[in-house]
Amino acid sequence: MMSGFSRSHAICLLAGAALLTTAACGSSGETAAQGSTKPHVVAAFYPLQWLTEQVGGSDVAVTVLTAPGVEPHDLELGIKQVTEIQDAALTVYIKGVQPAVDDAVDQDTGFDAATAVATLPAGDHAEEGEEEHTVSYDPHIWLDPARLATVATKLGERLAAADPAHAQAFKDRAAKTADALGALDREFAAGLATCRTKTLVTAHEAFGYLADRYKLKQVGITLDPEQEPSPARLSEVGKLARTEGVTTIFTEALVNPKVAEVLADQVGAKTTVLNPLESKPSGDYMSAMRDNLKTLQTALGCTA
Ligand SMILES: [Zn+2]
Repeated sequence: MMSGFSRSHAICLLAGAALLTTAACGSSGETAAQGSTKPHVVAAFYPLQWLTEQVGGSDVAVTVLTAPGVEPHDLELGIKQVTEIQDAALTVYIKGVQPAVDDAVDQDTGFDAATAVATLPAGDHAEEGEEEHTVSYDPHIWLDPARLATVATKLGERLAAADPAHAQAFKDRAAKTADALGALDREFAAGLATCRTKTLVTAHEAFGYLADRYKLKQVGITLDPEQEPSPARLSEVGKLARTEGVTTIFTEALVNPKVAEVLADQVGAKTTVLNPLESKPSGDYMSAMRDNLKTLQTALGCTA
């Protein structure tokens, strides 16, 4: 298996053997890790940053490409960030979320988290020629704690292979993280087992994995957060919301709630924010997901 760490070591050894200056070796990966001797791992956006920090611990220096409050799908990379990716020991990303990152990442030093889990097909929007997602599967895998637990384990193996000196520490932290995510998965399963309605009307279809895992039915008002839904779509979703007894329409912090509010008005429902965790929450992944669980339980009328 090719790895960023061993590859750059090999290049350094070669450089030394050729009696070239070894200064160039030391500078590799230092751009964002600020001179740290720890391997530099780049995370594409928040949930992957959180996961990498959990699994990498103090043995890696983690930086994130998507600043807090920025919608990750829209990310454009500057030259500095492209260099950061090129110099990093590992870049943790999900192919299909951010086309700019997909283009910049090097196959040998990239860890595509989507390859670690079974993916679900993309929603209808991919077929409408929408440009947000460039892959045939739904890339929002982090909203299923069970799938994220699998990613944690694979990331631990990847870091261990790349930096064998710390292999055990990576594997231990990966196991601990996977356990915590497994516990969160069980909280969701129990908390969403018995509900008045299982229909989840959302502003943008980010919750497919959560819906799949906990047997909810996601209905997205709009498939592209940048686009207004057609009147036909609005009345279709409105009709469904009434039949399914939906009392809450879910919106997101980074998506304009106007359309969701109009629909909520029409069907006599209210709107509540459900966090797709595409950006850093006020707490962390675990606390934001627990907040989501409470929000869902209230909105769907779950008894647990
Ligand atoms: Zn999204």
